[in-house]
Amino acid sequence: MRRPTVLLFDIDGTLVTTGGVGRRAIERAFHRCHGRPDACSLIRFDGMTDRSITRLALQAIEVEVTESGIDTLLEVYIAELEAELRASPPDNYRVHHGVDRAIDAARERGMALGLGTGNVLEGARLKLQHVDLYRHFSFGGFGDDHELRVELIRRGAERGAEKLGKKLDECRVVIIGDTPKDVDAARGIGAESIGVGTGSFSAAALREHGATYAFDDLTAPGALTALLGD
Ligand SMILES: [Mg+2]
Repeated sequence: MRRPTVLLFDIDGTLVTTGGVGRRAIERAFHRCHGRPDACSLIRFDGMTDRSITRLALQAIEVEVTESGIDTLLEVYIAELEAELRASPPDNYRVHHGVDRAIDAARERGMALGLGTGNVLEGARLKLQHVDLYRHFSFGGFGDDHELRVELIRRGAERGAEKLGKKLDECRVVIIGDTPKDVDAARGIGAESIGVGTGSFSAAALREHGATYAFDDLTAPGALTALLGD
């Protein structure tokens, strides 16, 4: 019999390409809160959590970092993200090939479909509602659960097991992501990882980094089989 399975999907570069709405929104938040739209200019966002991006950017502009300072910035970020999404041209914002089919197939098999993302929950909701994907995901590990990706992935996996009414060690857990950080987080909790070359890293680079499987996208031969564990 198939093991109960928890899938945790990353968002940016994995489910969707957003045309940079998240970066623009956090830059505007830094502009509004600190007059420094350039605070994030040296920070690479791929695979990072929202809180760690915010912390690094505060350090970059030499503002004392406090948890409440990060909270305030992230609240403003959410408001700016809503505005960015309203203004975003549809051509720049799209769901990656194979995502819809993968979601349908996993659902048909009764798998727990969740998110494993550095986005704070509200940001994840906004980004996915924009393309009508959010309704498929009833739980996840988010950027407000923990600043470290491995820990938020762990929370997501625990919630997925709860959804299935199983203990976590009875479940197969699969992390689907587009960066080496997704692969590392999966390894950190003993989960499988599927790397997708739809973000800034190629499938080959993700495979080399130790992904259990890696594909150009979820339409590639073998991708669905790897996901479903058939
Ligand atoms: Mg990503």
